[in-house]
Amino acid sequence: MLGKMMDMPLSITSMIKHAARFHSDTEIVSRTIEGPIHRYTYADSYQRIQKLAHALVELGVQPGDRVATLAWNSYRHFELYFAISGLGAVCHTINPRLFGDQISYIINHAQDKVIFVDLSFVPVLEGVVDQIGDDVEFVIMTDPDHMPESKLDDVQCYEDLVTDQPDHYDWPELEENTASSLCYSSGTTGNPKGVLYTHRSTVLHAMGICAADTMAISGRDAVLPVVPMFHVNAWGIPYAAAMSGAKLVFPGAGMDGASVFELLEQEDVTLTAGVPTVWLLLQQYFQAENKTLPHLERVIVGGAALPASIIEAFEQDLGCKCLHAWGMTEMSPIGTIFHMKGDMKDMTSEQLMAYKVKQGHPVYGVEMKIVNDDDEALPHNGQDFGELLVRGPWITSGYFEDDEASAGSFDAEGYFRTGDVCTIDDRGFMQIVDRSKDVIKSGGEWISSIDLENIAVGHEAIAEAAVIGLSHPKWDERPLLICVKAEGADVAAEDMLAMYKGKVADWWIPNEVAFVDELPHTATGKLLKTALRKQFSDHTFSDA
Ligand code: ADP
Repeated sequence: MLGKMMDMPLSITSMIKHAARFHSDTEIVSRTIEGPIHRYTYADSYQRIQKLAHALVELGVQPGDRVATLAWNSYRHFELYFAISGLGAVCHTINPRLFGDQISYIINHAQDKVIFVDLSFVPVLEGVVDQIGDDVEFVIMTDPDHMPESKLDDVQCYEDLVTDQPDHYDWPELEENTASSLCYSSGTTGNPKGVLYTHRSTVLHAMGICAADTMAISGRDAVLPVVPMFHVNAWGIPYAAAMSGAKLVFPGAGMDGASVFELLEQEDVTLTAGVPTVWLLLQQYFQAENKTLPHLERVIVGGAALPASIIEAFEQDLGCKCLHAWGMTEMSPIGTIFHMKGDMKDMTSEQLMAYKVKQGHPVYGVEMKIVNDDDEALPHNGQDFGELLVRGPWITSGYFEDDEASAGSFDAEGYFRTGDVCTIDDRGFMQIVDRSKDVIKSGGEWISSIDLENIAVGHEAIAEAAVIGLSHPKWDERPLLICVKAEGADVAAEDMLAMYKGKVADWWIPNEVAFVDELPHTATGKLLKTALRKQFSDHTFSDA
């Protein structure tokens, strides 16, 4: 028997309408590329979103078209999020930090019809314009006074397009599975892969991150997403803020410690989110300047592992919580986050820290399992590790126009293969051990390259380290430790290997050490192990 409840499609427009109607005076504050701080309200924003929708239609944008952005976090980018998706078109956020070839690949693959570009990224676009189709239109996200000279053809000005449009737009009623936005994951192998979100997945994910044990975003919060709007929709925060009526603070291009601190302080920010590197810069700043942030309550940290030293500094010096989260572009992105459970209230700070450095506890909406090489589920005992598989309503069901990449990405039960190798403990906390393609398979057992790297960088003479598996006739693979020495420091290979004694099982200890001047990285700063494996492909171990 079917129930009798209204079947209303979930829509992105409903979130901004709610903010404009019931949180009309709440502010959206942006550090602009042009210089000054811009402030207006949700009501003002919604009016401009409707004008922008008219402008998009004038540009010829139709439902289903991809409209791209190359932009920092700002009020104009926020307007684009809602106007593009509200029309039934797809907001394609491009990561300007990618290499030129990847950017042109992404634009061509997505078949973007219009590209909205911030002043600072005009040169990025000029650098790839010869590699993209002729019929793409360009709009620079500024006012007429700041329009630059540009070699882009027929380039238009955002404010010129928007200003004189009508205030009201009649939004179409969209089926909730209509595509709303598109984000490519950079990946370390092959071409970038597009993840195509829907109105439904975006609304459910926004509700998921508002939950008390996720980010607990409320109408009392002032939220500053340092995580860029070109990186998985700023982790969904712009939508969640609109849904809950939280004040939004956009940092523009100012990502350094002093600029982020200034906005956190002046705008009484209560919640902020970003990758560990940003917090390291902020930590250096507030410690050097001996400053505090009395309003800041929660700092969400994800994208890479959060070291205990950052958690301690934020807790002790600022008195705020540092919540370690994990997710992926393919997951909108939230999967797990740290929160204390009822039975953890009496733990000592040392006991709690052991959980805080883990990647977190699954949020409602994300189902998880860890499996071995034969896809058999492993126990949640904090010891056994295997590949992490996930499913849920805000997780991709296949890459955009890429059957090849989609094909190997799911198991028989429809779970998505994350490529992360993890443990899950008896309380449900997940800890990443490695990437599945980086884990070293020695004699049928797995060795975590990340654990070995963390130990190596603990040596004062080592600036950076990578561990890769190289083929070995007896063991299948064995670990090679590759190190960059700290400036002016020296250490012998034997001493490096000796430091593993007692810290890991003997059979985990790398066979050999290689010293190099530098390690290769991806455009987003992750270690590029594919390049390292290629570089050392001729290396044979002395016992092989
Ligand atoms: P990109 O590869 O473009 O950075 P993602 O942001 O989707 O794309 O990266 C997701 C991956 O980042 C995860 O699969 C995981 O390997 C890593 N990651 C995300 N959060 C964490 C975390 N808290 N700790 C360690 N690794 C993380």
